[in-house]
Amino acid sequence: MVQVSTAGRYRPLSLWWDTLPGPLVGDVRPRLDMDVDADVAIVGAGYTGLWTAYYLAKADPALRIVVVERETAGFGASGRNGGWCSALFPASWGKIARGSSRDAAVRLQRAMFDTVDEIAKVVADEGLDVHWTKGGTVGIARSPVQVARARAEIDEARAWGFGADDYSWLSADEMREHVGATDVMGGTYTPHTASIHPARLARGLAQVVERMGVRIYEDTPAVALEPGVVRTPFGVVRAEKVIRATEGYTASLPGYRRTVMPVYSLMLATEPLPTAVWEQIGLARRETFNDGRHLIIYGQRTADDRFAFGGRGAPYHYGSTIRPSYDREPAVFAELRRVLIELFPAVADYAVTHTWGGALGVPRDWYASVGLDPKTGIGWAGGYVGDGVGTTNLAGRTLCDLVLDRRDSDLVTLPWVNHQSPAWEPEPLRFLGVNAGLRVMTSADHAEHRTGRPAKRAKLVERFLGH
Ligand SMILES: Cc1cc2nc3c(=O)[nH]c(=O)nc-3n(C[C@H](O)[C@H](O)[C@H](O)COP(=O)(O)OP(=O)(O)OC[C@H]3O[C@@H](n4cnc5c(N)ncnc54)[C@H](O)[C@@H]3O)c2cc1C
Repeated sequence: MVQVSTAGRYRPLSLWWDTLPGPLVGDVRPRLDMDVDADVAIVGAGYTGLWTAYYLAKADPALRIVVVERETAGFGASGRNGGWCSALFPASWGKIARGSSRDAAVRLQRAMFDTVDEIAKVVADEGLDVHWTKGGTVGIARSPVQVARARAEIDEARAWGFGADDYSWLSADEMREHVGATDVMGGTYTPHTASIHPARLARGLAQVVERMGVRIYEDTPAVALEPGVVRTPFGVVRAEKVIRATEGYTASLPGYRRTVMPVYSLMLATEPLPTAVWEQIGLARRETFNDGRHLIIYGQRTADDRFAFGGRGAPYHYGSTIRPSYDREPAVFAELRRVLIELFPAVADYAVTHTWGGALGVPRDWYASVGLDPKTGIGWAGGYVGDGVGTTNLAGRTLCDLVLDRRDSDLVTLPWVNHQSPAWEPEPLRFLGVNAGLRVMTSADHAEHRTGRPAKRAKLVERFLGH
């Protein structure tokens, strides 16, 4: 029989997919074609599902673990993101402490620092070439308002007991040693971030867990999750524990329409820039970077010397729908290019070779969670907003401990475990509120740029969105 290669169709998904070496692209794995029994059924083969499978298989090689994936491993945000493997947890320390305690909030942040090193360890142990460089993150302040915000962030970190080894203030000269952006006035630095090639991690992990005995069925949508059962059009998976790892796509599952809202983040990549240009720009340790504007931007210098640069700002779509066409918003790509050139004018002479986007998952209170309901056996992890590359690993280890009922685990008492986010508003409120919020954030950045004063309306919107 001639095997027709099917995975090539995913290359246009992102720069990362397009630059995967052939063996990592592979073919789409066979779909489920009968009913199967397992101990754990996982829906979604992004980082959340794959890290969960990895730690479970490692903890107990005899466990029967099945992953059901609608497309192919790494199809979602995990194969398209900015490649910041950071210690950012998507909820502020204050918010976490309000629902638990100050110590618990600090413990969660320290667990996130450790998570970056845990991923480094697995990547090394499993021989995954994910272009790992732990160069940290620079948060560039480019206006007096941004300087004030950056200084306040450092003061806050100190108030929570984090020292200069975790977060530090950089003067303008110190910042310029990292990055030759325009209008640098100073900023922040944290060493707790690595730049990675995200699709290499997702695709590589899928191969690793498969070698460990995990069965991955691709091209297989779950149409319902019920206690003990995952239903697909081609058969059911019966398992005592069922894990939902569907993040931005969650709203398409019956019963979960208002659980996690998909918000689009869009990216572009330039062609590789010559060494002479990088000598001016810096980022010699592949530091990830952003600046202090309200509407988030993020970038990295890739291992092959491109800029990969992204930002929010694409509209939210009615009913939390997801379509391939939503990944492409020419106006957002044009704005991203404009901002990148504003930061690094030399980029204007180089071509943008890739544009893409994807859906990340936002819970109503912008507070990620992981948990397992002991009554139903249904577990979940998600709502990472834009900070899932690191957090999914902590989620996977935590789900492993919850599934195996390891009560002495330090992870299962972290404050995000079994946190219940409220449901999003029904439509049309959600559509009107979220898009109005996005517009205000953009206009707040323009207003701050014009007036040099902090925009109060942005603060209000951040509060409305629970951010
Ligand atoms: C453009 C972009 C840039 C980002 N940049 C960063 C960054 O730099 N750093 C960072 O920390 N985070 C970033 N994020 C967020 C990060 O990528 C995600 O938080 C993380 O990848 C989430 O992993 P996941 O496995 O939970 O979800 P996903 O990777 O989205 O995986 C979910 C999987 O479930 C599958 N699925 C969905 N529904 C079903 C179903 N019914 N049946 C079967 N399978 C289903 C999907 O096909 C998909 O493969 C970014 C996200 C985007 C979109």
